[in-house]
Amino acid sequence: MTHRFSPIALLGAAALLSTAALAQTVKVTPLGGFDGEFCAQDRALVFEDPNGTRVLYDPGRTVMGGSDPRLGKIDIVLVTHTHGDHLGNAHTKAIGAGTCAAPDFSVSDIPNSNAVNIALAKKSTIVVGSDMPQFFQAKLKALGGDPANVKLARFGGSVTVGGVKIATVHALHSNGLDPDYIGGDLGAAMKAAGIWGDVGLATGYVLKFSNGLVAYLSGDTGHTADQEDIVRGYYHAKLVVMNIGDGFSTGPAEAAYVINDLVKPNSVIASHANEAGTEGGKVRAGTKTEAFIKATHVPVHVPLSGKTMEFDANGKCTSGC
Ligand SMILES: [Zn+2]
Repeated sequence: MTHRFSPIALLGAAALLSTAALAQTVKVTPLGGFDGEFCAQDRALVFEDPNGTRVLYDPGRTVMGGSDPRLGKIDIVLVTHTHGDHLGNAHTKAIGAGTCAAPDFSVSDIPNSNAVNIALAKKSTIVVGSDMPQFFQAKLKALGGDPANVKLARFGGSVTVGGVKIATVHALHSNGLDPDYIGGDLGAAMKAAGIWGDVGLATGYVLKFSNGLVAYLSGDTGHTADQEDIVRGYYHAKLVVMNIGDGFSTGPAEAAYVINDLVKPNSVIASHANEAGTEGGKVRAGTKTEAFIKATHVPVHVPLSGKTMEFDANGKCTSGC
């Protein structure tokens, strides 16, 4: 006797499965310098896919190396570009050290970097674009790690790690490598000449999680035509992590334009404000964070350190916002 499956029943089962996937959420937990606040050096976020894969984005200076108890398992480390506040040329002495406006990050991570130290401790895969893989491979190797744990996702391509599809997009920024990471006579000569190392263009990321959520992580960037043509037009990002610091990248007004007119996601997490954005967990009046919230047409979620937010496949916050 042969078993026949009705195509209608199979379609129904597939629809149920995809509905279940869409109902799952991606958890986003900020690892900032001050519990419950959004402070000047805060960039680091942990994304947890519904399948359990955990992704650390731009660890910067607020994660206390690989032994930071907030990290847990980290499968993937992302670094948009090699500037010290993203790669982590130093890190905070303790959560709450210094002030929210001027955190104390006096623990040096030169010549290794906070990002590489964390990836080494957690045996994470580092996924970077541009010409950055060789730099990370060399650092891992020098510390006894495995260079094969660095994967390239250069513009237009993608790599899937732990069920999370990772692509990079260009960021209109710079990506000079501080000669302090190079060291020796060459590093000293470059430093004296005021020349930084070339590791290719700066990047942002587009992540596609297993529940279907597509998130655009801007990195430090100005406006780019790709934010409309590629991030919205091709990837259809529904959640954005947007840098609003001004001076080095888009400020609140420019970042709001990126959200309202170019990417048009369903919600956005403010990032990289370079200020004490909150006090007692509430947005402070007169801040860039407040200006960005006021200028943006979709919900802006403020990344309070340690407070987990959950996002569905459409980029809507379902919990913790
Ligand atoms: Zn930066």
